[in-house]
Amino acid sequence: MAGGAVTRFAPSPTGLLHLGHAFSALTAFDAADRGQFLLRIEDIDRDRCHPEFEAAIFEDLEWLGLDWPQPVMRQSDRLAVYQAALDHLAELGVTYPCSCTRGDIRAALSAPQEGAPILGPDGLVYPGTCRGRRMYGIAEGDVIRLDAEAAFSVLGDNMLNFNDHSPHVLTREAFVTGIGDVVLARRGMGTSYHLSVVVDDAAQGITKVTRGLDLFESTWIHVLLQRLLDLPTPDYHHHRLIRDDAGKRLAKRDDARSLRELRGQGASAADIRALVGL
Ligand code: GLU
Repeated sequence: MAGGAVTRFAPSPTGLLHLGHAFSALTAFDAADRGQFLLRIEDIDRDRCHPEFEAAIFEDLEWLGLDWPQPVMRQSDRLAVYQAALDHLAELGVTYPCSCTRGDIRAALSAPQEGAPILGPDGLVYPGTCRGRRMYGIAEGDVIRLDAEAAFSVLGDNMLNFNDHSPHVLTREAFVTGIGDVVLARRGMGTSYHLSVVVDDAAQGITKVTRGLDLFESTWIHVLLQRLLDLPTPDYHHHRLIRDDAGKRLAKRDDARSLRELRGQGASAADIRALVGL
């Protein structure tokens, strides 16, 4: 394994894989470089995930020439692990329950004393309406948020950093104003993408996270959670995004560019590599 990295591809089975996924999966596979490439199924959103899409993921990735060790980690099997991480964060005093709807948040942000709303990696930066509520007062239908200020106080540090080819740094102030109190456990789900991905990358011993540039800002949330949970921060490589002919980022609903469709039209795995510039 000398020189190699442990990498992963972590798709959500909410649709067919398209060229953007192929690029992401091949990038992770190539980055393992004599190390190990792992696959993880991110299926915490039970309403949007379907077994037929999961089966299609395995089929498409095999066709692309990738292989990975079994068994594959599946997030829906790990809800108790996420709950334990959330409990730990609650013990640190860096979480609070929140009942605000999107409408409540927009209304609070339009109050005259608020400046222009700021769009963070997770949508509008939360105005803090429920901050100060206690975890023992949690009610049905609440989400759990991270108290960003409290989190930095617990760390006793005003700086976050990670490596993506070169070092990147973010200050406490930039986090609090530009990202803020993100949701760690979504309604009815007990976790969120951010919490699960951090816990699982550590559990799988991932040393290099490769994923799209669209997630660059989210990485600050992950680094903060790693610090709070005493987990290592891996290296990151945020790769370019594959766009359609009109320059728009590919989405799962663009079935015309699905790997299955391209394969049906006679494309080979080598053609897919060439199409995404690898
Ligand atoms: N499940 C996420 C996605 O499909 C994975 C993102 C990541 O690699 O961290 O976008």
